[in-house]
Amino acid sequence: MAEAIFLEQQLQTETRVQGFISRSHQHYIDGNWVSSVSGKSAFRGKDWRQMSPQARSTLIWRLADLMADHLEELAQLDSIDMGMPIRQAQYGTTPMAVDHMRYMAGWATKIEGETIPVSAGNFFNYTVRQPVGVVGAIIPWNFPLLMAVWKLGAALAAGCTVVLKPAEQSPLSVLRLAELVTEAGFPPGVVNVVTGYGPEAGAALVAHPGVNKVSFTGSTEVGKSIMRTAADRMARVSMELGGKSPNIICADANLKRAISGAMLGIFMNQGEVCSAGSRIYVAREIYDQALEQMGDYANRMRVGNPLDPKTQMGPVVSEEQYQRVLGYIDSARREGASLVAGGETLPEAGSGFYIKPTVFANVTDTMTISREEIFGPVVAVMPFDDLEEALERANSSEYGLAAGVWTENVRTAHYLAQNLEAGTVWINAYHIYDAAAPWGGFKQSGFGREMGHHALELYTEIKDVWINLQ
Ligand code: ADP
Ligand code: MG
Repeated sequence: MAEAIFLEQQLQTETRVQGFISRSHQHYIDGNWVSSVSGKSAFRGKDWRQMSPQARSTLIWRLADLMADHLEELAQLDSIDMGMPIRQAQYGTTPMAVDHMRYMAGWATKIEGETIPVSAGNFFNYTVRQPVGVVGAIIPWNFPLLMAVWKLGAALAAGCTVVLKPAEQSPLSVLRLAELVTEAGFPPGVVNVVTGYGPEAGAALVAHPGVNKVSFTGSTEVGKSIMRTAADRMARVSMELGGKSPNIICADANLKRAISGAMLGIFMNQGEVCSAGSRIYVAREIYDQALEQMGDYANRMRVGNPLDPKTQMGPVVSEEQYQRVLGYIDSARREGASLVAGGETLPEAGSGFYIKPTVFANVTDTMTISREEIFGPVVAVMPFDDLEEALERANSSEYGLAAGVWTENVRTAHYLAQNLEAGTVWINAYHIYDAAAPWGGFKQSGFGREMGHHALELYTEIKDVWINLQ
């Protein structure tokens, strides 16, 4: 009986999702759906910043509740749009998006200043944190809803208004979210969505004089071009960019956990994750054994229709990405790496850009696949002889987003945690995220931290006030 009800609900959701997809969608500006965006659209920031923190918090929380009510629908939209396995969307990213909104709703009432004991005279000196203004938020296609929410939650809590540009490959869940924004009762213009291609819609948003801050998640190359444009008017920027994250498996690691953690680290979301653990360094004494187990793991993974609950890896997002990833696989072959698993497409899976989980051995530090971000299900596995060597090679990347370490030795764990050049270090874990834990990169992986209270710094300016008491 319970199962019948569940299936019935499932079917209703699927019908709703199909209905949503088959409709044509427009931009969401000032609370209206419009076919074009005029340069003068007023983002009514004043109503929002003057609203009491409590009232703002309540609205953000209400949006989170609506997201939770529509969780299955939002999960299906992301899965259909970009190939994320439905189980991951249902139990991972969509619930995380809801948690994130709730966490940030709480912060709306807790953004405080300080009183400062100045020595310059008889003054009362205090700071306030004020919203930075209109935020242009540009997000990638790999976690459409979650990336939108990482930016929206903190910006709204801080009292900013937002113009959100989803990636052209995967706008559906964000467009549905905009409908929920209306339903939640936000004042018009607080949340706006502009769809379109990067060099057009994205670039126009970055260049717009009314945008005070650009919050970007995407490729390092586009991040740099956005910084150049923003520099002209000193618009604030924060950047969450690419990665080539190392995952170090020490000889004393719990190998079973390390293997499954490292495989999740690379193959989650088809490897289309900025923090994918795409360089695995394994202690030489366990290298052969680890490689064999990784090959088995990759070969056993169920690749297929992302809406099938049994699927562990879906297709990559687009033909462009498919060709890019296959190009990297070819480069590895040409440069002399040996294939341990995968390396080919999955034509029998029907339509869709399916690439098998791919493991390469005999990879040198200079090969293309050990240097460049692939953003696909391809991993390089390399042996190391001692810890210093592993550390040096792990750090010899222009990126510095995340790193993983597998060891049972507490000294090794802390030593590597201290010395790895990465914004996040996971010890005996990988791909763990929490709304309360700051996230962002070192080096060319960007700057600024999303999540945690650190995210509020991205969306506030500090004002210092002097009152003469003399
Ligand atoms: P990818 O190449 O993996 O799609 P991008 O960095 O190109 O990653 O895209 C991330 C986001 O940046 C997308 O929303 C995209 O539309 C946008 N974008 C791409 N090019 C530009 C640009 N020149 N200016 C502003 N936004 C851009
Ligand atoms: Mg691009």
